[in-house]
Amino acid sequence: MSSLELKPAIEADEWRTAQSQFDEAAELIKLEPWLRDVLREVQREFTCHFPVNLDNGHTRVFTGYRVQHNIHRGPAKGGIRYHPDVSLDEVKALAMWMTWKCAVVNIPYGGAKGGVIVDPRTLSPNELEHLTRRFATEISILVGPDRDIPAPDVGTNAQVMAWFMDTLSMHRGYSVTASVTGKPVEVGGSLGRADATGRGVMICTVAALETMGLKPFNQRVVVQGFGNVGSVSARLLEEAGCQVVAVSEDYGGIYNPLGLPVKKLLEYRAREGTLKGFPGAELVSNEDLLRIECDVLVPAALENQINSLNAGYLQCKLIVEGANGPTTPEADEILRKRGIVLVPDILANAGGVTVSYFEWVQDLQSFFWSEHEINARLESIMKRAFHEVLAIRDEKKVDLRMAAYLLAVNRVAIATADRGIYP
Ligand code: GLU
Repeated sequence: MSSLELKPAIEADEWRTAQSQFDEAAELIKLEPWLRDVLREVQREFTCHFPVNLDNGHTRVFTGYRVQHNIHRGPAKGGIRYHPDVSLDEVKALAMWMTWKCAVVNIPYGGAKGGVIVDPRTLSPNELEHLTRRFATEISILVGPDRDIPAPDVGTNAQVMAWFMDTLSMHRGYSVTASVTGKPVEVGGSLGRADATGRGVMICTVAALETMGLKPFNQRVVVQGFGNVGSVSARLLEEAGCQVVAVSEDYGGIYNPLGLPVKKLLEYRAREGTLKGFPGAELVSNEDLLRIECDVLVPAALENQINSLNAGYLQCKLIVEGANGPTTPEADEILRKRGIVLVPDILANAGGVTVSYFEWVQDLQSFFWSEHEINARLESIMKRAFHEVLAIRDEKKVDLRMAAYLLAVNRVAIATADRGIYP
């Protein structure tokens, strides 16, 4: 294997990425050593192995995790991921990123994440429900509306959250809707939650373009990933005036330099179960998709997609990270040198957890807001966070990722220091 091929293997370690991003920020703000030691680790990591009865009569044992990185600014908050590549180190990184994300948008939460090693597409609805109810039971010793509040992530959705909430509620003997967010609206979910992450991506994209002296009109956008985050980002960016030229799913993507009609793509995918074969578009590989000439690239799939092997070849002006951790530190360095502006995950995709916060507040009060009110509050929080990060970038002469880290790590460090050490 050549050294080039080895590089991404090292880069593909999310926990290393998360810790090195934190270390850089801690160094810049001259964080006291004890605070560095506390914040560069997770507070709690929980692993469970649990059996699920499959439809074919066999029993399979699954492995799951729940990690709480920090709870000094409020209850732990973060999604649950179902994916075959889930690992404890990945969940630790995702939990740490949740802490910074909640701090960037200044909502009163700490950071957590959970995951189960499973490909949910291989399970029947019945098996998925049983796996979810058993995993919810396993982590019920950690979660609750005032302690740790799960939400959807890659491979989970509103239905999974409904089962999760129902299971936790059954154990208590009454409904505890605020124990989980991202639920269906009928069982205490919030209007606007399903679109919230993509809406935040759109708001950050428009705000970033503005700082570059550009308007959204006719900006060519490539979106990697067409799940909840990618598809909503594409739809709302199109509504904002951009031209979406390529989108992808796990096997690769489709491309039309003259633009793809996003609403028609969504209808086609709902009907056919794939984007393959969409009329008038050519197929591109995942690697080629990232190299398409465009103005805005939205990575909205998984981690480590932009790494030292491809960062030199991207042909965009702006990257807005819909996914968590899509860019490795090595790629960040290359992009910085190339002058490509990057809005980091902990800011760009914070719209989801922000509306999760609204959902939790609404559930606790049993008082629900209109979609207009939710979207307006989301927009004001996202814009405020964006401009706070921008001001730090200009003052400290760092990139937007480091500026977001400086804002977040500082907020969390103050809370951790104020609270002191028990006992
Ligand atoms: N999984 C989403 C994220 O990574 C949402 C988390 C939440 O709403 O708690 O931000």
